[in-house]
Amino acid sequence: MADRVVRPVYLYALAGVVAALVLASGALQITRTKRELVSIYEGSARSLADGAEQLVGQALSMLDVSGHGPADAAKAFALDDVLLDYLFGLAADLDRTLPSHASGDVRVADPEVSLRAVGGDAAKTLGDAFPMHVIRSLESGEQTVAIRRLPPAPDRPGRLLVVFRRHPGPGFLVFTVADTGRPALVKRLLMQDVVRVFRDRHDLLDLIVVDEDGRVLARAQEESVSKVPPPQVSSLTGKGHQAVVLLTRHGETPALDFTRDLRFRGTTVGAARVSVSVLAMEKLLATSRRWTILLSALLFVVGFALVRLIVWRQERTLMRMREMEEEIRRREELSALGEMAAGVAHEIRNPLNAISMGLQSLALEGGEGKGQGSPELLETMRREVARINRIVNEFLSVSRPLGLHVEALNLNDVVDHVAGVLRQTGGDHGPAVRVDLPGSPVRVNGDRDKLTQALLNLGINALEACAGRGEVTMRISPQKKRVRIEVSDTGPGVPPEHQPGLFRPHFTTKEKGLGLGLFIAQRIVQTHGGSVALGETSQRGTTMVLTLPVADG
Ligand code: ADP
Ligand code: MG
Repeated sequence: MADRVVRPVYLYALAGVVAALVLASGALQITRTKRELVSIYEGSARSLADGAEQLVGQALSMLDVSGHGPADAAKAFALDDVLLDYLFGLAADLDRTLPSHASGDVRVADPEVSLRAVGGDAAKTLGDAFPMHVIRSLESGEQTVAIRRLPPAPDRPGRLLVVFRRHPGPGFLVFTVADTGRPALVKRLLMQDVVRVFRDRHDLLDLIVVDEDGRVLARAQEESVSKVPPPQVSSLTGKGHQAVVLLTRHGETPALDFTRDLRFRGTTVGAARVSVSVLAMEKLLATSRRWTILLSALLFVVGFALVRLIVWRQERTLMRMREMEEEIRRREELSALGEMAAGVAHEIRNPLNAISMGLQSLALEGGEGKGQGSPELLETMRREVARINRIVNEFLSVSRPLGLHVEALNLNDVVDHVAGVLRQTGGDHGPAVRVDLPGSPVRVNGDRDKLTQALLNLGINALEACAGRGEVTMRISPQKKRVRIEVSDTGPGVPPEHQPGLFRPHFTTKEKGLGLGLFIAQRIVQTHGGSVALGETSQRGTTMVLTLPVADG
């Protein structure tokens, strides 16, 4: 039987597998989403890099001043503008930070630029380079800036001199940019302009432009902020125009680095790395990861609970099935027993009747004193015959289906009658038989004879338990819809080990017992919609409780 239950281990494993599948499919979905999102980020980085390349191209073509036409002259002026703009900015910054009386060389970040601060006497320092009237108007404050291009000399390259009058006065800042360093500086400035265009894009973490030697030309973020070194151009050579995409971190921020070489007129002129923040993507993925795990765990728990439920239901069904099998087996046994009993009982009944009648006539004759047998012996025989008759009747009532002849009864009458029979059975020296009945009639619908038999069976057990002493009490206590009939004795009680078997057929502890009394009583009462049960029992006595539904109205 046990192997009919589906092994719970398999079911639990199944729940586990389902949960794992959900987990796996969730992970797969997350990976796919990530791939898609990364390609979106990559696209946006690519378009940034394209834009940067275009601007770098424009800048480089500006730097390319090789001819002598008017277009090239205009370009050259534009480049000087870029340089002068830058120096103006630098001077304004220094005006704020440098003490007004400072004098001597000042360090600036750009190696191509040298700067000297002049305390007051401009003529002394600038006399060589500028005409006197320029120096005077600078000193008087009439003019704040003076620019001069010095041609190359045999011992030194040409250079550009730019003098700013200090704002609070009276000193000057003198910038010198050698012709040899100018292109590199201007190129860097142009690249910084390029980078500045993109700096304010909110998702842009960093944009770096390096030249063909890997030197940083411009960068949107200070390296200290970005914490990522500039790209190596060498790592891009040989990859053509292909980009390198890398998911990394810039400090705390998850980032996508898109690095690509920059081309101008067919050659690699450097590289650009665009770094965009993928924080939003990471957040999204983290959320969906959490949900996937949560849902799979939930599924597992629910699956587990479901399996438990299924197993529990199966076990219950199985138990019911076992009970039913047991019941059927018992009934089969009983009906076999009943058939046999009915056969035997019929066979016994007829001779028994003859014996009974014979005894009666013998008793009559004995009464006339002919002495064929002592009256005691006859009485004993009569009792034994009556006992056999009762046994036969009990056998028959087990085997036959209970056909009830239901009528309206007053239960008080039935109990009274049973008490009378018990008194007779017990004899003069037997236990006292008392009844405790309510004043008004107790109405039930039932079969008088069958109910009498059921109560008699309980009563006889009580008598037998008393073993000639004590008393038997039959009490009716009507309740709302039911009536309770208690049959109590002062016998030795039912020990716990006997209690489970009490109502089973053939359970008896008596030498001549049949073990059918309680079984029959229960059968009868259950057929009436009632029940019989063991009530209180102790060494001082036992109460059997019989309940019946009362008649409506
Ligand atoms: P029988 O009387 O033939 O033994 P029953 O079905 O009437 O069969 O009773 C079964 C058993 O239950 C008895 O043998 C006895 O052990 C126990 N029993 C029934 N009623 C009482 C009682 N009032 N006091 C003690 N034991 C009882
Ligand atoms: Mg009995």
